[in-house]
Amino acid sequence: MRLINRHGRKRRLATILTTSIFLSIGVLIFVVILQNYQVNRDVVEQEVARTKQQTSSLVQEIFNLRVKSLEITQDSYSRNPTLIAGTRSKNSQILDSFFNSIDQLSPDIAPDFRYISSDNEIIWDDANLQFYGISSEQINSLSKGMVTGLGWHISQSPSALGMRYLSMRRTAIVDSNSGEVVGYLYIGFVLNNNFALVNAFSKSGNADEILLAVGSEIIASSSKRQQEKYSEWLEQSSKSLSDGRYMVSRTDLTINNVPTFVSVYTVQSNEHVQAFVRSHYVWILVTTLFVVCITIYTRVWLGKRVSNELKSLMRYTETTIQEQKASKFVGSSIKEFDQIAGSFERSFKRLHEQEKQFTELFNFSLSPITLWNIDGKLDRVNPAAERSFRRGAVQDQLIRNLRPHIKMCAQGATLTGINTTIDHKTFRWNLSPISSDNRITHIMAQGQDITTFIEAERQSEAAREQAEESARARADFLARMSHELRTPLNGILGVSQLLKGKMKDKQDLEHMEILCNSGEHLLAVLNDILDFSKIEQGKFHIEKNAFRLIELTSTVDKIFKPLCDSKGVEFIVESDIDNQLWVYSDQVRLNQIIFNLVSNAVKFTHQGSVKIRLNVECQNNDCLFSIDVQDSGIGIEKARLTDIFEPFVQAEATTTREYGGSGLGLAIVHSLVTIMDGKITLDSQLGQGTQFSVEIPLQIGQEQLSRHAGLEADPATLFSEVIHVLLVEDNHTNAFIAKAFCEKYGMRVSWVVDGLKAIEVLKADNSISLVLMDNQLPNLGGIEATDIIRHDLGLSVPIYACTADGMQETENEFLRAGANYVIVKPIKEVALNKAFIHFKRHHYSLVE
Ligand code: ADP
Repeated sequence: MRLINRHGRKRRLATILTTSIFLSIGVLIFVVILQNYQVNRDVVEQEVARTKQQTSSLVQEIFNLRVKSLEITQDSYSRNPTLIAGTRSKNSQILDSFFNSIDQLSPDIAPDFRYISSDNEIIWDDANLQFYGISSEQINSLSKGMVTGLGWHISQSPSALGMRYLSMRRTAIVDSNSGEVVGYLYIGFVLNNNFALVNAFSKSGNADEILLAVGSEIIASSSKRQQEKYSEWLEQSSKSLSDGRYMVSRTDLTINNVPTFVSVYTVQSNEHVQAFVRSHYVWILVTTLFVVCITIYTRVWLGKRVSNELKSLMRYTETTIQEQKASKFVGSSIKEFDQIAGSFERSFKRLHEQEKQFTELFNFSLSPITLWNIDGKLDRVNPAAERSFRRGAVQDQLIRNLRPHIKMCAQGATLTGINTTIDHKTFRWNLSPISSDNRITHIMAQGQDITTFIEAERQSEAAREQAEESARARADFLARMSHELRTPLNGILGVSQLLKGKMKDKQDLEHMEILCNSGEHLLAVLNDILDFSKIEQGKFHIEKNAFRLIELTSTVDKIFKPLCDSKGVEFIVESDIDNQLWVYSDQVRLNQIIFNLVSNAVKFTHQGSVKIRLNVECQNNDCLFSIDVQDSGIGIEKARLTDIFEPFVQAEATTTREYGGSGLGLAIVHSLVTIMDGKITLDSQLGQGTQFSVEIPLQIGQEQLSRHAGLEADPATLFSEVIHVLLVEDNHTNAFIAKAFCEKYGMRVSWVVDGLKAIEVLKADNSISLVLMDNQLPNLGGIEATDIIRHDLGLSVPIYACTADGMQETENEFLRAGANYVIVKPIKEVALNKAFIHFKRHHYSLVE
């Protein structure tokens, strides 16, 4: 197994493992050895320093001992009678024999030289100074230079053999009887080549060599052999006294704590330190060899072990891939490899199952599945496709039809809902690219025979069109009917109102009243039908205006109070609406909702009361308007409650007979409430009464100061002069009524029966201040005539249109053509009054 490192170089797993082991063991051992070496070196260095210190003290001790013994013997001789006698008599023989005898007794503690002076003159010497090459004169001068006292005097004296370094001491020779100083005994030792001293140091210390030196000059040494080399050492002594093989310690000799210029160097072999260092090197070498051996062994062992296991794992994956079936792994002694193999096994199994599922899906699918290569060649088909496109010609059709889509899909697009006709059947195809390694290799096209579905779709489309057509026809019929009915009704109501104004007889008036009411009722039913047909066709529009909400109560009170009074039913209107609350909503439709509910309540109540509660709750700009209409009337059966809002539904079949009505009122209320985003609920008990509750959201509206000003304008005084009106109306009754109304306002009316005539009159007569234009006219319709007057003739004369169908669309068309106002027929006095007020406000000033 090879692993790729950062630089792309591949390395064996065993090498990586071995390197890591080698590095960690190596570093560990190195650190241990280093630390051990450091500790040992400190110990050795301390030991060396201690040894040097000891040697130094020992050398000084030996020297002190020697000097002390010389002092003692010198002091003891100085009182010896023989010496005194010899000195006094200056007899050399006595003195010679005296000192000889002493030296024989203890030769070890004899000084190097002795001499005696008396009366400032040397009277005796042992001739050793001459042996050291020092002349009598020099001795004399040395003696004189010495200060009286018992201390040692260190001096140097040139001699025939070079510079001599001397240590001398003087003692007075005193006659103990008389106390007289008869002379001075001088003793001394020469440090140059003082082998006795060197030997004494050698014997007592364990040094290999002893050197006496003054500065860097060696004046005595225990071995002549290496003297030169030692000289070199001493020259460098300021730098280091040790060259590794030898340990050198230096003692600056003192006599009675007075420093001499002589130093003693003891040279000891540094063998054990050397051995210690050597043994360390050997250990490092041995350890390194050991680590290398272990590394090589580990590398080989790991290589064998890991490679074998990996090979078996790889063999397993390769065979499984080749044989395309999930077999079981034999197992590995390495746990991780076992786990890897386990996950391989699971993946292979899942893959195998997926493949099996896919094959089954492919084979058992009832819809045709085809597999294509990216060049548009059909590769494979499933049995369902085989059945459908078996015949050669059919298969050719399939390929011809699908190939362009396959090629498009090969660019990476997924195509759905592609319909093709093959062998008189319609197939709907979904095409999806199949990718492997980020490359599209195949396209799968899955089809579905939708021949019957298409046929059903076609039929349902035809049915829908038919239904729409009949709905349109029904709506048209309703619109036409309402127009046809309204026109004569217009006549009936108009004439009745005119006659009513002229009648004086009470009974005549009553009859006329009934006529008016019947006409109004018929108009209400007609309006209901028209509203409902508008709602059904989705042509119903809510027109919002600002108005005072309280106006709704006064209207309802005015209309129904007299009716209830006449029936002996109590009529109560409760409202906590603020007088000054202005809202923004469709006042007409709100009125219609209340009116329908209250008229039902009044209609179906014969005793007790009809109670209306109007309430509004506002928060910021939003209000919730609630209407409760509660009666103690006949009530509605529970079973009918659910469908009471459906159109043309009445609680009982007998209702129509007894109470009349179209069964549209509640359906319209329900639709209006829904359009206005509100909700309506109903609670009723048969024989006890009914309660309808409506909730409708409203917005706060801006107060309209001039609104409705002059709604009740007096026709006699509205205009101060005669207005010339052109009335365009083909229906004689309508024309008669309209004319009569206009005349009430002191207007002069010119009447024509179609659009063409109207245009002619307008062309000729410019005294006309207002045109009242009907819609449906012979020769040239009202809308077309308006358009010509405005746009072709370019006349600005105000045109007030009158439409009988009450459709919003007709109204809009009129306004688009150039009309200034639209009055809905049948023309009622109030509506006309409003229209004339509008005319006065907007156009009269122009006339004036
Ligand atoms: P209609 O024009 O027949 O009154 P509506 O849609 O207004 O049509 O009412 C449908 C039916 O619901 C009525 O015919 C009547 O049977 C019943 N209904 C409506 N309101 C009341 C009420 N307040 N009390 C009893 N029955 C009512």
